[in-house]
Amino acid sequence: MGETPERPERRRRLRLVPRYRDQGYDAESVDKRRRWVEEITGARLDGVGGAVAPTEELRGNVENPIGTVQTPLGVAGPLRVRGEHLDDEVYVPLATTEGALVRSYERGMAAITRAGGAQTRVWGDRNRIAPIFELDDVAQARSFAAEVEAHGEQIRAVADGTTRFGRLETVHAVPVGRRVILELGFFTGDAHGMNMLSRAAGAVCAWLSDHLAPDSSKHLVLSGFSAEKRPAGSLLRGGKGKKVTAGCRLPPSVVRSILRTSPEEIVALWRSTVLAHLATGAYGYNGHAANGLTALMIATGQDVANIANAAVCITSFEMRGEDLEASVTLPSLTLATVGGGTGLGTSAECLEMLGCRGSGRARRLAEIAAATVLAGELSMGAALASGEFVAAHEAYGRNRPGGGAGDPESGA
Ligand code: NAP
Repeated sequence: MGETPERPERRRRLRLVPRYRDQGYDAESVDKRRRWVEEITGARLDGVGGAVAPTEELRGNVENPIGTVQTPLGVAGPLRVRGEHLDDEVYVPLATTEGALVRSYERGMAAITRAGGAQTRVWGDRNRIAPIFELDDVAQARSFAAEVEAHGEQIRAVADGTTRFGRLETVHAVPVGRRVILELGFFTGDAHGMNMLSRAAGAVCAWLSDHLAPDSSKHLVLSGFSAEKRPAGSLLRGGKGKKVTAGCRLPPSVVRSILRTSPEEIVALWRSTVLAHLATGAYGYNGHAANGLTALMIATGQDVANIANAAVCITSFEMRGEDLEASVTLPSLTLATVGGGTGLGTSAECLEMLGCRGSGRARRLAEIAAATVLAGELSMGAALASGEFVAAHEAYGRNRPGGGAGDPESGA
């Protein structure tokens, strides 16, 4: 008896998101697209459609727009920053859904400000991109790298010809067997720079293929070596954005009155938790640098996926006489005040709040970010050292379905 042959399942028609004229950024197309999603999913998207920014502004930042999401925005401060690019008190916008975060950063900022402010410095300002060339064998790879090194001036001219603000500063050839990674280090002005760098790297690769690489070679514009949006040990030496430090010396009276612990207890906590970081193989050491940084990045329209590299951070707590000396080092902080999402409605407003909107402000923003991270490290370290960490989250950080939010009068 013959078996019934299995019928190939009929291929379902893909229900593609509708396309509209000129990519559909006008308000009517955005509404239509959102209504289409409501119909397909059964969800009501009134909030998503309630944005105040003109939909045309979303062009270049998102495709298939249907509206915007809203993230709660809090403010923490005053934060006194004594940097090279500002000497000022600022109030920092933090966009988050983590209860207790803003209160915690605010407490750290109060301690820093009461202690006279955070010193901040920008040590480096360079973003990198790393194409990779595939050669025939290791000998050819070495010859190609030597040619690249000998033609630095021409390569620089090709790269710099693609941008007004960007500048190719370094070219390093890194061998991997018969392949050569080219690490290109750029100054990117006040921009994050990845679009700028991709265009420049594309032009450099094309020039190298035409002039220096053997015909049989192949290349990719991105190799992964630059550790963009992913953690890597190389981020600790910098080169992915700005390298920034912030430090503050806090007298015991401030540590006791605002942070409710002592310098000795914070240093003891640091010692134990450094060991735990070592035990887990962490890149760097910090309490929660990603928390305040992410909140600041969302508020100011940064490419938030860069938190993967930006939050690589080394926090240090040590005794200086009776005082607590606290510092953070952020070697790969990608922040911008121009380009990307920084010009979008609320992002521009939050940058304005910090005095960081537009050209010439990116280093100021980096110094504020480093001081903000320092505040968070102090406050979290203090909460752990004093045993208040859980109570603070119970008081401020719960939003349990079915009720049971904490009592804000209790705890920290
Ligand atoms: P962009 O918005 O594409 O371009 C910014 C441009 O602004 C610069 O290229 C520059 O033009 C111009 N500019 C004006 N004033 C400036 C100033 N003071 N400093 C620097 N530039 C100034 O931004 P981008 O920074 O190049 O790229 C950031 C975006 O790339 C982010 O939104 C991110 O999401 C995205 N991204 C792209 C890639 C990629 O591989 N392409 C990867 C990750 C992320 P000139 O170049 O003519 O000087």
